[in-house]
Amino acid sequence: MNLHEYQARDILRQHGIPVPPGDVASTPEEARAIAARLGGRVVVKAQVHAGGRGKAGGVKLARDAAEAAAHAATILGMTIKGLPVGRVLVAPAADIAAESYVGVVIDRASQRPVVMVSAAGGIDIEAVAVESPGQIHRLAVDPRYGLLPHQAFGLGLRLYRDTAQARAAARIMEAVYETFYAVGASLVEINPLATTPDGALVALDAKIVIDDNELERHPEIAALRDSSAEDPSEVAARRAGLSFIKLDGSVGCCVNGAGLAMATMDLVKYYGGAPANFLDIGGSSNPQKVVAALRIITADPNVRAILFNIFGGITRCDDVANGIVQASEQVALTVPLVIRLTGTNEALAVEILTRAGFSALTDMDDAVRQAVALAAGRGVGAR
Ligand code: GDP
Ligand code: MN
Repeated sequence: MNLHEYQARDILRQHGIPVPPGDVASTPEEARAIAARLGGRVVVKAQVHAGGRGKAGGVKLARDAAEAAAHAATILGMTIKGLPVGRVLVAPAADIAAESYVGVVIDRASQRPVVMVSAAGGIDIEAVAVESPGQIHRLAVDPRYGLLPHQAFGLGLRLYRDTAQARAAARIMEAVYETFYAVGASLVEINPLATTPDGALVALDAKIVIDDNELERHPEIAALRDSSAEDPSEVAARRAGLSFIKLDGSVGCCVNGAGLAMATMDLVKYYGGAPANFLDIGGSSNPQKVVAALRIITADPNVRAILFNIFGGITRCDDVANGIVQASEQVALTVPLVIRLTGTNEALAVEILTRAGFSALTDMDDAVRQAVALAAGRGVGAR
């Protein structure tokens, strides 16, 4: 789950990291009022789940409240990386002498949280990572001991020659590491960690990604979810209790079990197609879930064919068949459906589907080949 910058800033501030105050606005008038209350120069920033807002024109400095309102009006009408901007953060503008990068991320290779720092922070950090990776310093932390003070200070010295600044940076890193665990994050990032002309360090941007598996342990963090900023299909799937990830292919996939769903996607690719989604309707079966799944898949205009792949173990094939029949009565199906069912109550399922005018296959290869051909606009001999 992604947090917005303003939420991440609040969390970092609570953990003692120097973050300027600020507030969110959803209209230019609100932005004007916040800027007037803060006084002086402010920065107006698009609140969307995307980086690179600065380059996209979603971060603008304003001299006064009137200019803040004007910038808010522009930014609130923008779409950044496909995401419409519904709110802006208005915060006092800092004077920047230098920009660093500080982040903590889960590293699968070392299976540890890794602290990453660079003195070349700012909006081009991705380019730095590609072009001069030597400018990014990494430290894998042993989670049994946490980030030790001398390690943090060593990293601080990678950023600042001045020992007082290095020490301040070290304290910030320790607080970032603490925050990382406190909220169940997979990523916490400050970019830029700015140096002001008087030498103080201040976090001007914050990004936190929460590990979804941690949400149950952190209800206060789960409550920060902004569904309006998420893909509507993923929101609908979560509400229906489905594991769903939207992809950009044309074969809609509805599968029971994450492993079979992955294998199905592999096979779709193998036969030259592209999956439109990952979808696991879960181990136990319930026709309502199938209805919800079909609604979500058919709402995607890229979908040209829908493939059901059901291995009936705990899931009963007849439940899925009933779900498909019910769903086809409730959802207008404008694309072909290929159904493969095998296992528990398979014969009953085939009977239900045949009675409703569907045909069902039992071989996975056959079904995937058919779905791929149909999605590509090619007919299948058998039909
Ligand atoms: P991002 O592009 O989505 O990462 O958004 P950031 O919040 O990092 O802002 C992009 C850039 O805008 C930063 O790297 C800064 O150079 C600049 N910026 C952001 N906040 C301020 C500020 O308070 N004062 C000044 N002078 N520049 C800022
Ligand atoms: Mn940034």
